[in-house]
Amino acid sequence: AGAAQVEALQHADVARLLPVPAAESDKYRRGVVGIAAGSARYPGAAVLAVAGALRGGAGAVRYVGPAGGAVLARHPETLVSERGPARAGRVQAWVVGPGAGDDAATVGEVLAADVPVLIDADGLRLAEVGAVRGRGARGVPTLMTPHAGEAAALLGVEREVVESGRLAAARELAGRYGAAVLLKGSTTVVAEAGGGGAVRVNPTGTPWLATAGSGDVLSGLGGSLLAAGLSAVDAGSVAAYLHGLAGRFAAEGAPASAEDVAGRIPEAWRSVVRAP
Ligand code: AMP
Ligand code: MG
Repeated sequence: AGAAQVEALQHADVARLLPVPAAESDKYRRGVVGIAAGSARYPGAAVLAVAGALRGGAGAVRYVGPAGGAVLARHPETLVSERGPARAGRVQAWVVGPGAGDDAATVGEVLAADVPVLIDADGLRLAEVGAVRGRGARGVPTLMTPHAGEAAALLGVEREVVESGRLAAARELAGRYGAAVLLKGSTTVVAEAGGGGAVRVNPTGTPWLATAGSGDVLSGLGGSLLAAGLSAVDAGSVAAYLHGLAGRFAAEGAPASAEDVAGRIPEAWRSVVRAP
């Protein structure tokens, strides 16, 4: 498909996209993000996705899944629901998949909802193309956030094929699924649904982000931006940009944990707002 159209994400564009609460906002108007993540085996993924979501601009974070106790112990502001996604109460955008194991039923319930969805990790494996495509066809914002290995599995190619052609892989997935695609890695790229437009390249990443749980934080952050009303491609772009900056602030040349990265999202946000 010739030379791919590519755009570097710019500070000013990200600043323009950051949601700012109106004076008369309440928490529901700011958006409720639902997190369907974690499992008995990986409760931490739920905790980290919630950590990212709490700092992403939504007014409330709702959690559904088996890690409610762990989530509440770390994030008492979370609304923990005992019910599945279909009956959890008001949610403006869902994040599904981080640490979710083999819970296909939950992924199916989330994909059936008529609200924006971010699909990550195990959710990518469990999501059917038809269910995702149907959302795109109805115009419901849908964002997939694979790393290279997950993208390779979805495309049925070797990981090296994705690594050596990241722009093409993101476009290809965005075309197949009719969803926006944020392909994570050393250079994170974001393609809009359908794969037709320019692919955005995130300049803020740092290899210090290559640490367990870091992708879970990104998923919550992106979901929160979807709940605040951003389009799928914009939510992915802003999330990648802020996550990269937060990684840099957390690391400053020394190792940082995923939780540290989540804790520096506000500083990343502030630095974007303050930039000329
Ligand atoms: P995951 O693979 O789901 O744990 O997510 C890892 C996160 O770290 C993603 O946001 C990646 O973009 C980021 N990341 C991983 N390796 C690198 C790297 N070498 N340089 C920059 N960011 C990276
Ligand atoms: Mg991951």
